Amino acid sequence: MLIAANWKMSKGPGETRDFCAAFRPPDGVEAVLCPPYVSLATAVESAHTVFAQNVHWAAEGAYTGEISAPMLQELGVAGAIVGHSERRQYFGETDETVARRTAAALEHGLRVIACVGESLEERESGQMQLVLGVQVEALADAAGPHERLVIAYEPVWAIGTGKTATPEQAHEAHAFIKKLLDVPVLYGGSVKPENAVELLSQGEVDGALVGGASLEVESFTAICQTAASL
Ligand code: PEP
Repeated sequence: MLIAANWKMSKGPGETRDFCAAFRPPDGVEAVLCPPYVSLATAVESAHTVFAQNVHWAAEGAYTGEISAPMLQELGVAGAIVGHSERRQYFGETDETVARRTAAALEHGLRVIACVGESLEERESGQMQLVLGVQVEALADAAGPHERLVIAYEPVWAIGTGKTATPEQAHEAHAFIKKLLDVPVLYGGSVKPENAVELLSQGEVDGALVGGASLEVESFTAICQTAASL
């Protein structure tokens, strides 16, 4: 199983150093840390597996504020999250830009966690499969079932809200995604030590993308231990 810590805009280099020094991932699980850009080098030095939180499609050029795959590789970063719902919601990310970022990162040898997920409105109006279908097809067209591609199913209504999908909802969405694109699928959305067993023990759930509960060494370690025990 893969358990990834998305720190979002938290933890500068100092806090990253402290976390990395204290964090001991258990055997039997792959733990990935995704700090903000300014803390990537510090996290890489710690010898943990490190992903960025985004990556641009061009190798270099006039794209102020962006970071390229070759730059991440030079730093020793192993992969990147792309298409997180916060990027889609606040920064204009579209299925097309997510697909371009994904394809470029994979071409340059990085691993990718590509995020998909429906909003509450979309779920309640019966459009979950339609939305997921469009998001996943964009990735399938751009990358296919690439060996370094992982999808994170993150229902937008469950991110940072304390609400989680039920294990059945997660199972159903993961199975639907895998029919369209046969890659591992992580669940994301308020995963905590208290709910990790029920979510991670579902068939079709290949790990988790964890936001809030990844900020403390104790809670992130507890989720990793749960994954290792399954
Ligand atoms: C996320 O941001 O990817 C996430 C799943 O956040 P949280 O665990 O806080 O819901």
